[in-house]
Amino acid sequence: MNTFSTLLTSKKLSKGLEAMKITNPTKVQEAVYGAFMEGKDIIAKDKTGSGKTLAYLIPCIERALARMEEDHSRCRTIILLPTYELVMQVQHVTLQLLQKSQLDLRSVALPGNANIKHQVDALKGKPEIIIGTSGRVLELIQMKKISGPTIATLVVDEADHMMDKYNLDGLKAVKKCLYKDTQIAFFSASMNEKAIRIAKELSTEPFLALSKEEERIPASITHLYIKAPRNEKIEALRSLLSTEECKDQKIMLFVNRTYDAEEVYEKLSFHHYKVCNLVGTKDKKERKDAMEGFLSGKYQILISTDLAARGMDISDIYGVINLYLPTDSRDYLHRAGRCGRQGKPGICMNLLTINESKRLSELENQFSIHFQEAFFEHGKLKISSK
Ligand code: ADP
Ligand code: MG
Repeated sequence: MNTFSTLLTSKKLSKGLEAMKITNPTKVQEAVYGAFMEGKDIIAKDKTGSGKTLAYLIPCIERALARMEEDHSRCRTIILLPTYELVMQVQHVTLQLLQKSQLDLRSVALPGNANIKHQVDALKGKPEIIIGTSGRVLELIQMKKISGPTIATLVVDEADHMMDKYNLDGLKAVKKCLYKDTQIAFFSASMNEKAIRIAKELSTEPFLALSKEEERIPASITHLYIKAPRNEKIEALRSLLSTEECKDQKIMLFVNRTYDAEEVYEKLSFHHYKVCNLVGTKDKKERKDAMEGFLSGKYQILISTDLAARGMDISDIYGVINLYLPTDSRDYLHRAGRCGRQGKPGICMNLLTINESKRLSELENQFSIHFQEAFFEHGKLKISSK
C-alpha cells in the first residue's frame, strides 16, 4: 500500500500530514493523485467522510510548489464550495496543513456574505489557494482582484450541488473568466447521471474516479426509527434528547424547512437544551457563533437544514436526528454522513409519522441499509428485537 511519504514529492508536505496523523491515502486520494498531478481534468465521486478535501488539496499544493519553480504567474487554485461554513472549514484544513508542513504558501477564504474589503486586502498578497463561494469569487474576478490567467486549477467541491439549476450559471460564469485549458476537478459524494454529464461537458477528457459502489452510506452507521405522530414530534424529540444515549452527546438535528428550524430552536431553548441554530434569519455572526459553539461544546445540539450542513466535517458527532425525513432521498445520505466518518460508529435516528414510514423501504433498497425500530424505556433508547 502506498503511503503519503512514498507518493508525494514534497517531503515537507508528507511530514505535515504525518503530524496530522495522516499517513496512508484513502481510496479517492490515491485514485486521483496521479491524474491530478498530470493536470488532467477530474470527476471524482466517493462516499461521505472518504477524505475528498485532502484528495484535491494535496495535489493542488504539490502542483503549486512545482509550478512556482517554473511558472510563478500561473500556480494558483480556486476551490469553490456552496456555503460560508464549508469555505471556512476547508480554509481551516488548508491553513493547518500548510502550517504543519511549514510551507510558504498562502490561502485565502472568500465566502459571500462577509466583508469584501478584507478579502480585497487579503488578495493583494496573491495567495496561491483561493477558497470561496462562486458568487463572491466571480465578483472579485470582475473587480479585477483575482486575475483569471493566474489560475491553474479550479476545484468544484459538492459538485452535484454546484451544478444544480440554481448554481450552474454561477459556476459557468467563474469558469468563463479562466483560460480554456485551466484544469477543472469535480468532487462529490453523490452525483447522478445528469450531474456527471454536465461535469463532462465542462471538462476535457476528464479522468473519472467514480467509486463503483452505489452511492453509499458508511456501513458503520446504525439507522433507527422511532414512531411519533406529527403533533407529538417535538415531545418525542425531547424524550430522545433526554435518553442516556443522547444526553451529553454532540448531535446534529435536521429539519426540512427554515421555518421548522426556528420553531424547534425556540422550543428546545425554552426547555434549556444547549442548542444552536445554523439556519434562518441568522446573520453571519450568529451562524459563526453557532458553529464555533457547537465545535467547542458550548452547544450540544446543532439545528440545520440540508444545505447548511452539507460536507461538514465535525469529528466527534455522536449522531444525527431527522425530525422529518428529507424529501430527496440523496439528502438522507448527506445527513447520515455527518456522523460515522472515517469508519467511526455513527447513529442516524429518525422520528417518523406513519406516512413517512412508507419511505423506509425505499431508502433501505436505495442505500442497502437496514432500519431498526427503537423506543424509549426508563430514559434509555431501546432497539426493538423484532
Ligand atoms: P468528505 O469530503 O469525503 O466527506 P473529508 O474530506 O471532510 O471527507 O474528510 C473526512 C475526515 O477524514 C476528516 O476529518 C479528515 O481529516 C480525515 N481524513 C482525510 N484523509 C485521511 C487519511 N488519508 N487518513 C486518515 N484520515 C483522513
Ligand atoms: Mg467534503
